[in-house]
Amino acid sequence: MNVSSLDLSVVTPMYNEREAVDHFVARLRPVLDRLGLAYEVVAVDDGSRDATVARLLELRAGWPQLRVVALRRNVGHQAALAAGLRSARGDYVVSIDADLQDPPETIGDMLAVAREKAVDVVYGVRHDRSSDTIFKRRTAGVYYWTMRRLVGPWVSDQAGDFRLMSRAVVDVLNDLPEQRPVYRLMVPSLGFSSAEVSYVRAERVAGETKYPLSKMIKLTLDSVTSFSATPLRIATWLGLLSFLLCLGLMVSALVAWGLGAVVPGWTSLYVAVLLLGGVQLICLGLLGEYIGRIYAAVQNRPPFLVAMDTEAAMDTEVAMDTDDAEPQISLPQK
Ligand code: UDP
Ligand code: MG
Repeated sequence: MNVSSLDLSVVTPMYNEREAVDHFVARLRPVLDRLGLAYEVVAVDDGSRDATVARLLELRAGWPQLRVVALRRNVGHQAALAAGLRSARGDYVVSIDADLQDPPETIGDMLAVAREKAVDVVYGVRHDRSSDTIFKRRTAGVYYWTMRRLVGPWVSDQAGDFRLMSRAVVDVLNDLPEQRPVYRLMVPSLGFSSAEVSYVRAERVAGETKYPLSKMIKLTLDSVTSFSATPLRIATWLGLLSFLLCLGLMVSALVAWGLGAVVPGWTSLYVAVLLLGGVQLICLGLLGEYIGRIYAAVQNRPPFLVAMDTEAAMDTEVAMDTDDAEPQISLPQK
């Protein structure tokens, strides 16, 4: 576990954010300096292919509180966030996107609320998403609707990954053995005291979204499978329903045979075979999703590897292991 020596850590995963990073730093720094606290900004580079890391290192020269943690490859937003939470040393930790869709000014409000109300978590809740595309809003709407039903009513409708957490929460999160964490569901599920701060979701300051449909689907599958076995139960019910349907069809087939009308029936046969085949494949696929995750959990490979951390010695390799919050430092390869 990290020794807390700072008041605040701001964790920001970045993937190909070269275009946004200057804007981000220019707006974040005055906000944090004004707070008058000992802070660090943990910029986690999630295996960017552009010059994000190089630019971050340049910016760090003029802003020592900017810490750069570079991952070996792109592991996705949530795993990059995990890397940031592991590295963060602050008494409070705020996670925020790098594209300025989450306004840095809200961090001050979050801290004030956390202290005033003595809560462990302060969620940033988007009360206006008009800057997001219709597609994004619709898919987000379906996502949160499904999660509230499958996971629990405590999932906030509009809470993404802009939130403040106390050291106690971050320590608990870091100790969880999740291979594919979904923090927006994990944090409320822990049951820590919480409050909300609302903000207006701005437009991405520069560059493109790093969340294509494929990543959204992955996040949805991780969200469902890590919190609910309901889809498996649905599979059981589908199986039962198909079985009952088949029983009825069997009776009607026997009756038809008794009446001597057995030759026609190609359509019903065809439909039944297709339907049953479809249901079986869906159920197999569902099982596969869960088995794949059990497989990953049993393999227990680290969900990310840190290639460089400006707070650690530059010539050592730091690898994080999932069930050990301490970084394991090995000798350099070359
Ligand atoms: N991100 C990341 N790894 C990824 C995808 C995204 O670290 O594989 C970061 C990205 O740089 C940004 C945050 O996650 O800071 C949210 O991504 P984005 O703004 O593209 O998502 P959107 O707001 O469009 O949902
Ligand atoms: Mg964004």
